Amino acid sequence: MDLGLRGQTALVAAASRGLGKAVAAAFVAEGAHVAICGRKPDTVQTAAAELGSDVLAIPADITKAEDVEHFVRAAADRFGRIDILVNNAGGPPVGAFVELTDEQWWQAIGLNLMSAVRLTREVIPHMRRQGGGRILNITSYVVKQPLPNLVLSNAVRLAVVGLGKTLATELGPDNIQVNTVCPGPIGTERLEELTRTFASRQHVSVQEAERRMWTDQIPLGRLGRPEEFASAVVFLASPRASFITGTTVQIDGGLIRAVM
Ligand code: NAD
Repeated sequence: MDLGLRGQTALVAAASRGLGKAVAAAFVAEGAHVAICGRKPDTVQTAAAELGSDVLAIPADITKAEDVEHFVRAAADRFGRIDILVNNAGGPPVGAFVELTDEQWWQAIGLNLMSAVRLTREVIPHMRRQGGGRILNITSYVVKQPLPNLVLSNAVRLAVVGLGKTLATELGPDNIQVNTVCPGPIGTERLEELTRTFASRQHVSVQEAERRMWTDQIPLGRLGRPEEFASAVVFLASPRASFITGTTVQIDGGLIRAVM
């Protein structure tokens, strides 16, 4: 299926590795112009070179307002338009509620909520001028099924769902679609790191840790692959999904047991 993305411009935040990079790769495969950002200049340049010669790499820390402005401006200058924004970021630290400080709360809000607020604010004028656009917020399956010991993610990511739902209404008349995508356990480096940590703490093999932590809970019996997650994001960002806005979709192999 041709998704109709050829020649469109997609900005993918925090895309030096993992889900962001997989999403950027899927846009490249569809013939879109792609701009990515990441904190470290060398890492983001390397990722962009691996993705393709037309991929724009911008060193930017998405918790900093001036870096966010620079990322969007540089992409608009290079490609002349912005059709798609994928709000992605790293995850906040684990921890029980009673252990967490105000500073850690503000950091999580900066990383996972304010980055999406600022990036979205920067792209809206471009999308309005062009007569439309699509915004995808990457959160986590914990917005539908909170995980113990992960209150920062459970709480702050729900604010992103509220943001997305509100914006779908507010920006619908501008033909700007806003959807939220919730990865379940997907085999990125981050997930591998978490699994290895669990394995060494529990004195079990990595395979056993993966089974106990993740795959026992997943009806499909395996982790997702980054490219499987990316396919869903790129579809939702495409003209093929032209009547879908305001949804919160999990890509989780059936992990979430709730009906809605
Ligand atoms: P990852 O840690 O592999 O990748 C995150 C990327 O974000 C890295 O390239 C990192 O350098 C970059 N980044 C972090 N902070 C940044 C900042 N301030 N400015 C710019 N770039 C920054 O994580 P991932 O597995 O690709 O997951 C992506 C997002 O999805 C995370 O928020 C994660 O918590 C969430 N998520 C992932 C899974 C999964 O199974 N992989 C499941 C649920 C939710």
